[in-house]
Amino acid sequence: MSQATDAATLEKILAGAAAAARPAAAATPAERARWLVTAADALDAAADDLVPLAHAETHLPATPRLAGELKRTTFQLRLFAEVLTDGEYLGATVDHADADWPMGPRPDIRRVKTAIGPVLVFAASNFPFAFSVAGGDTASALAAGCPVILKAHPGHPELSALTGRIVREALIGAGAPDGIFDVIFGQEEGVTALKDPRIAASSFTGSIPGGRALFDIANARPRPIPFYGELGSVNPVVVTEAAIAARGEAVAKGYAGSFTLGAGQFCTKPGLLFLPEDHNLTDTLRAALDGAAAQPMLNDRIAAGYADKLAQLREVPGVEVVSSSASSSPAFTPTLLATTGKQFLEGGDAVHEECFGPASLIVTYADQGELLRLLDVIEPGLTATIHGEESDVDWIRPVLPALSRIAGRLLWNDWPTGVTVSWAQQHGGPYPATTAPTTTSVGTAAIERFLRPLAWQGFPDALLPEPLQEANPWQLPRRTDGSR
Ligand code: NAP
Repeated sequence: MSQATDAATLEKILAGAAAAARPAAAATPAERARWLVTAADALDAAADDLVPLAHAETHLPATPRLAGELKRTTFQLRLFAEVLTDGEYLGATVDHADADWPMGPRPDIRRVKTAIGPVLVFAASNFPFAFSVAGGDTASALAAGCPVILKAHPGHPELSALTGRIVREALIGAGAPDGIFDVIFGQEEGVTALKDPRIAASSFTGSIPGGRALFDIANARPRPIPFYGELGSVNPVVVTEAAIAARGEAVAKGYAGSFTLGAGQFCTKPGLLFLPEDHNLTDTLRAALDGAAAQPMLNDRIAAGYADKLAQLREVPGVEVVSSSASSSPAFTPTLLATTGKQFLEGGDAVHEECFGPASLIVTYADQGELLRLLDVIEPGLTATIHGEESDVDWIRPVLPALSRIAGRLLWNDWPTGVTVSWAQQHGGPYPATTAPTTTSVGTAAIERFLRPLAWQGFPDALLPEPLQEANPWQLPRRTDGSR
């Protein structure tokens, strides 16, 4: 099932999604919550088929990695069911008519969010469950009441087909309209779907060139649509002198573990480590990486991309290898490199851009002023981390605005690789981390990408949608006349 979707099937799927848009949006939050929970249950029940297939296609370990990722995926579907039950996502707001409103008399006006319409999701390669067919984009779009067409990633085609069948059957079995969900294959077919006027929004996780190409297509349509791309990120980590003095070994081990996790194929992999220039961590870092086994990359395309990028990085004047051992594509051992702040400023794209795989670059800084200049040239990403001590607070405070500029999530004394799924999560950031910095692709707020606000002015109660009716039949949290 890895061949491209044929034109007739693609048309049927697009027409099905368009036909499902109205009933999906009209389903009550409780009905949609049931769809999501049923899909989660079906995926959990199929774990014994799904996990080995994912392992065979991606080379990622079945346990704990893939089994854990499937658990995260079904948790995510169930959490969106809770979002629907909670109701705050609708942003229901009621302003009654007010003859004394200071700027002039106000009509009765009420605002609520509604499903945007059919969503095209481009699955990622590096998380075959959590950012793929039944991943966060699919879960949040379905929760919003949008039919989903999923463009499968060619790195795990059989898994995509099987996951797609399970999810589709579960959703329809739970009462969702036919056309609520389908999977398509093929690069050209993905572009055809993106250009189709029946698609109302699209999301993507992958490379900067791929995401940018699709973002441009979405915007060049006669009727442009929102395109939520999650692209690349270098995820800088700043370590202070006091942190090294207090727990240098733990910092070195933590960093080594984080940048080599999953063969460095995490969008949150820490790619830059900023250390004071007189640090003494080199031997500890080497020891932490010593003997690390070669890990196979997800697929040949990613292995080749990593080998190229690493070769470029090694060629940059002033970049030295701290730790590396012999390995060859498609399986790599970790590589740790180092350079000075001065060389980093002059090193250009090769040192400033993401190197997707098990490599990371140490950059030394002379003082706070140089650190701020270095952070100034870094492209925005998903995360920025600081390892410091309570005694550093005054030194760190001026660094925080520089880190805030370049990240969607700031971490204190932690590692960025793990991305929990929760109510406060923010997985995004200014371009090129994402094409839509006001949004997140992980966490409950991800639903907002697929909702469109609609105001109702002057309508009789009987014609208003339930969230806006005077009696508040769904008992939603609402702002009424400015108050909660
Ligand atoms: P990718 O090459 O960007 O592909 C992702 C998806 O977009 C695939 O379905 C691909 O379709 C489609 N696509 C890409 N370029 C396209 C174009 N010009 N026109 C139409 N469709 C296009 O990402 P990948 O294969 O997962 O990995 C490649 C690189 O992406 C990695 O080496 C890494 O640098 C980066 N990456 C980043 C993240 C992150 O979270 N930041 C995650 C994964 C990968 P086809 O495959 O069918 O062509």
